[in-house]
Amino acid sequence: MYNVVELLRDAKSGRNPVCGEYVGPVIIGAAKDANMGRAILVNRDVEPGELLIVSKAIAHAEIKLDLPRPLDKRESVGEWERMWKTLHDLIVPQVLGRARSSELFQKQVSGLMLSTHGTEDISIPSIDLYSSADKETDMCATAVEGEEIFNVLDEDVHLELDADQINQAVERSSFLSLDSWGGLWFLPSFINHSCLPNACWMKIGEDALFARAARHLRKGDEVTVSYLGGETVAFPHRAYAARLRGFRCSCPRCLFEASEKFIENLGDREWVTMTTMCNISNAVKFYQLLESSVKLIEKLEWGFKNVASLWNDEGKQEWLRCSFAQAYKTCLAFRAFHGQAFAQDLEILIRAVHATIGASEEFLDFLSPFMWVHPQLEAAIAPMCLCLYGEQSSASLREILGVEMEN
Ligand SMILES: [Zn+2]
Repeated sequence: MYNVVELLRDAKSGRNPVCGEYVGPVIIGAAKDANMGRAILVNRDVEPGELLIVSKAIAHAEIKLDLPRPLDKRESVGEWERMWKTLHDLIVPQVLGRARSSELFQKQVSGLMLSTHGTEDISIPSIDLYSSADKETDMCATAVEGEEIFNVLDEDVHLELDADQINQAVERSSFLSLDSWGGLWFLPSFINHSCLPNACWMKIGEDALFARAARHLRKGDEVTVSYLGGETVAFPHRAYAARLRGFRCSCPRCLFEASEKFIENLGDREWVTMTTMCNISNAVKFYQLLESSVKLIEKLEWGFKNVASLWNDEGKQEWLRCSFAQAYKTCLAFRAFHGQAFAQDLEILIRAVHATIGASEEFLDFLSPFMWVHPQLEAAIAPMCLCLYGEQSSASLREILGVEMEN
């Protein structure tokens, strides 16, 4: 139905790929956690890699950002607020313009707003509101350029929504990524966050958002993605990134990492060095970073053998390897540079990241140079790719990952 390889090829060459929207086996419903409001649920069993939603932005923008990664408390608040404001200012007029041209569009925007009659009465719009294939929707879906639609319609439709309501919908539902893009999407905005997501979303081109299942989902399961990007980072960073977005995550991974004394005592010195080094990125005191990474990993692996709560709990071990992936990456890259064998350790890390977050484009970027040297890694990487790109041939995967291999 969608040729992901072609779409990615188009996007890479700077063209905005042309693709329609798609609503898969999903409905809008109430979240399991009442505090989370609405959610996207699957209406049948779903396999990993299955496409759930393809959605084009209602309005979107590229935003120049200058945030340290991982986020740093002192520097990022002002920058983040500035970005949000910029995004908001760019999006509201676009949404207002389209609302003036279509009554259906106004209904769709209204659907984004929660009912204000008390907390129990949340309004759950029908999925049909966002998937009906009538003419008006088609026109909205393709009118990315905004101007086109104003030319088509010389008369404004009656505006049911006032500017305040549109502001509110934009504020509540728009999404800002740490990778300098942001926008407002209809269906994806109903998907809730988890640091142990069961789905992954990926933007292709300017504004097409593809959401796929990363796990086996049972009928009625709530679909979750990570809002925080390639969150192979530990709890304090994730909690901070979530707070900037105005929410607090209480997924099992966060609850575990926040409660685990062992992690708190992982060594302030290593922790601080890691954070500092990440922030100044390549302005290298590389050996200091390496030393800290080695120590951090030694302590973690020691903990897996000696700390009661981690013994034999492979799930939690994988969460932690994923949270401290930066340290593993530093050590593995160093060993690779010195020609040491490391494929097995890399596979352990790949499995941990996959088990924890499904997939991450950022992490795949890190892996692709190693695939060239160790083609056997492809088998470990494939399940991760499935979550982002769906079922692909080996040749297609190599093209996506930018890996050229001798056969
Ligand atoms: Zn979490």
